[in-house]
Order: sequence, then structure tokens, then C-alpha cells
Amino acid sequence: MTWTIEGSTGAWEIVVGLEVHAQVISKAKLFSGASTLFGGEPNSQVSLVDAGFPGMLPVINHECVAQAVRTGLGLKAQINLMSRFDRKNYFYADLPTGYQISQFVHPIVGEGKIEIELADGTTREIGITRLHLEQDAGKLMHDQDPTRSFVDLNRAGVALMEIVSEPDIRSPEEAGAYLRKLRQILRYLGTCDGNMEEGSMRADVNVSVRKTGEAFRTRCEIKNVNSIRFVTQVIPIEAMRQIEIWESGGEVDQETRLFDPGKGETRSLRSKEDAHDYRYFPDPDLLPLVIERSWVDELAAALPELPDEKRARFQTEYGITAYDAGVLVAEQATADFYEAVAKGRDGRSAAAWMTGDFFAALNRMSRGIEESPVSADALGGMLDMIADGTINGKIAKEVLETMFETGESASDVVERKGLRQVTDTGAIETAADEIIAKHADKVAEYKSGKDKLFGFFVGQVMKATAGKANPAMVNEILKARLDG
Ligand code: ADP
Ligand code: MG
Repeated sequence: MTWTIEGSTGAWEIVVGLEVHAQVISKAKLFSGASTLFGGEPNSQVSLVDAGFPGMLPVINHECVAQAVRTGLGLKAQINLMSRFDRKNYFYADLPTGYQISQFVHPIVGEGKIEIELADGTTREIGITRLHLEQDAGKLMHDQDPTRSFVDLNRAGVALMEIVSEPDIRSPEEAGAYLRKLRQILRYLGTCDGNMEEGSMRADVNVSVRKTGEAFRTRCEIKNVNSIRFVTQVIPIEAMRQIEIWESGGEVDQETRLFDPGKGETRSLRSKEDAHDYRYFPDPDLLPLVIERSWVDELAAALPELPDEKRARFQTEYGITAYDAGVLVAEQATADFYEAVAKGRDGRSAAAWMTGDFFAALNRMSRGIEESPVSADALGGMLDMIADGTINGKIAKEVLETMFETGESASDVVERKGLRQVTDTGAIETAADEIIAKHADKVAEYKSGKDKLFGFFVGQVMKATAGKANPAMVNEILKARLDG
């Protein structure tokens, strides 16, 4: 389905390309041994290299390179065995060296792709243009003192992967799906924690509009949008602004803009700088980065199973729907939990319980799956008791709720509360006879054709047995008596 905005001159299509800065998970920075831990005392994690002291030499961090290669492999992208670091020169108070070391001409990762899933069940492929390694800058703090600004260099020199998409995105929903999928892949790979609140994943959003079938028009780049919600909000706002300019006979200028979520508008930060403004040149302190094909192969062999593959496997191996599989692989921990429950059991029933009552209980407690009071083993134990007929599905809901409250096993709950399913034919027959005797009027109505009343009798028998009767047996026994 195409997503358009209706203007006074007809429908406009949105064109979006995203540049994501993803902070690499590594103990040390890209070119120094300083720590990358989040939340340290300001300027406590700064080496002389990061502070730009004269004569200090950068040394590439092997692990950061490995992380970039793993990410490239996860994005099904071309891995470049030779890449190079360039200096991107600009002056700013958070950049003590006066240049950022980045990869301009020869990035470590070339073209790749990401498949996104949309709400209507369709999928689309979004192209990845490139991924390159670069340094982060420091952080300026303007709100600590009335007259001065402070700088914290803890972040300066931390490794970032800039992941650039093709202008393939056509709606806010697709942009959101792209970011969620990218974050999911990075988390599975363990190369970036994807935590947008802490700034370890930030997006620059490039937006333009055009009439369907036209060539691309001028774009604007909205810098540092720091949540998926803001990305989906800013796209139509910026598109509307551009549509109004075009429709009133004006021309959109290529600019860098900022999003003000409070006012719901974007405003100009600066006119777009071009690459030549940065005076890029190869960093003379660093040799070209050359990696071996065999090392790339080793990293590829050690890659974890990624969400798309896991989802496909869950569907075939456990017979569950694409939708359920998608929910269960959303996070690695959930997928692992599901597999521990489903192994050797009915995969569909495991999926139904997890996506139903189990997630609902976790949500109520505002807990992640890692802190679930009910372990995979315990949930599996409960499924076993349903499968072998010890409890019925209805009682199981109550059992699971108690398990969440007390942390007991399913069998302990069932024994303590006496919830075993009643499969004793005699007991169910007695209950059925009593109900039938008590409701002679309803029996007459039923026999005269009011079929729906059957459910009433089932409900009454279940009630008389405190919900513990085997529902199949109740049905059978009632049928024999009412229809016989
Ligand atoms: P620069 O290096 O100047 O930032 P790029 O060509 O590398 O420019 O593009 C940066 C981002 O802008 C990419 O994500 C790309 O997909 C996106 N982009 C390019 N052209 C357009 C356009 N006409 N509309 C929307 N996004 C675009
Ligand atoms: Mg750019």
C-alpha cells in the first residue's frame, strides 16, 4: 500500500533515507584504551589521545573492527577487506583534535539490505548504502552554569558505526519498522545495545517529497532524532513543510534541521555543508585497514542465528504462525525462553501461553522476561500438566497466576489448592444429573430446538465441579443425556 500526503496540487509521496549512528559495544574506544562505560564521572574516561594532546598516536581497537564486520555480515552486506580512515576537519568545542577520524572514501562495509515487516503483514527490502567506523565527539553541557558551558570528553573517541540507508523508505511506518529491525539485528549480534535513551543509537532523518513517478527532489536532513517515536513524528511534519513550499511556488533548500517535539516543528540549523567543506584527507597517523578474508569467514561462522532466520525456523520447527514467531523472536531472551519451553512439547500451545497469559502477567508486573518469576522450566511443567490431563486449560490460567504470585511450581500449586482435573466419570455424571434435574424448564427448551442452551449446561456442570471437570468428558456426558 502506498502512503501519500494530499496537497492542494494532489498526492505527494515521501522519500526517506536514514543515517543511524550506533555506538559499538566494546570495552575501549576506537583508537585509545580509555573505558566506554556509560555514566562515569565527567572526564574520568579520557586518554591523551582522546583529549587531542600533541604527538599522541591513535591505535586501532581490533574488537571495534570485528564488531563492524559482524554488523556488516548481519546486514548481508559487502565486507571491504581494505578500508581507510580519513580526517573530517571541523572546529567545535566538543572536538579537541579539530577533526573526527572517519571513513569517507573507503568504508569497511558496503552495500547490504534489511527486510522490514509492516503491520499489514507485507515485507519490504530497504537497501543499506554503507557502514563506516568513526569516532564520537565529546558532550557539551550548557545547563550546569549560568554563564559557562562545560565539556565532558568521556564519549570522545568512542567507536560509532554510521549505517546509511538508501532513500528507499516511503512512510513513517516504514521508517519505524526499519529502525526497530536494525536495532533488533544489532542486539542479536551484540554489536550495539540499541539504547536510544542513552544515546547509543541516534538517527539523522533525510526527508524529501515528490509526485509519484518523479525523480527525487531536494532533501533536508533532520539531525539527531533520538527515539523511534520522534522519527515517525518528524517525517510527516517535515514533509508537510516541504509540500507547502513547493505548492506555493517556492523551492526547498537543502538544509540541516532540528526537530522540536514540543512545538511539533522542524527549524533550520544550517544550510547543508558539503563534503569538501570538511577538507577530508587520509589520516597520516593510520595505515589503511587491511583484514583477511579468512578472519571474516571465522566471524561469519561464529555469528548467532539472526531474527529472520530464527523466525523462519520457529515456523517450520514448531508449527507456529509468522505473527507469533515474529513476536517470539523480537528479543533474543524471549526467543531462548520460548525454545526452552517448546522443546519436546507442543510448540503451538507453548506459543499461545507465552504470547497470552504469560506476557500479560509480565506486563502487569512491568518485568522483562529475564526477571520473570516463572522460569521456562516452570512454564513447561505447567504445559505438561495440561498435556497429560492433570489440569484443564481454564484451571491452568489460575495455576499460572498463582505461580507468578508465589514462585511455586505448577504441580505444587495444583496439589496445594486441590486443582486436579476431575476425570472420574461417576462424579461428572452425578453433577450432570443434578443440573438436569434442577433445570427441567431449560431441558424442555433445549429439546424443543434451543441448541445454544447446551453451553449453559456445560457451564453449570463446570461450576458444580469448581471448574475442575474435564471439559471433553462434560460435553460427552451431557450430550448422552440431553440428546440421547
Ligand atoms: P551526504 O553524504 O551529503 O549526507 P548521502 O548521499 O550520503 O549524502 O545521503 C545521505 C542520506 O540521505 C542517505 O540515507 C540517503 O538515503 C538519503 N537521501 C539521499 N537523497 C535523498 C532524497 N532525495 N530524499 C530523501 N533522502 C535522501
Ligand atoms: Mg550525511
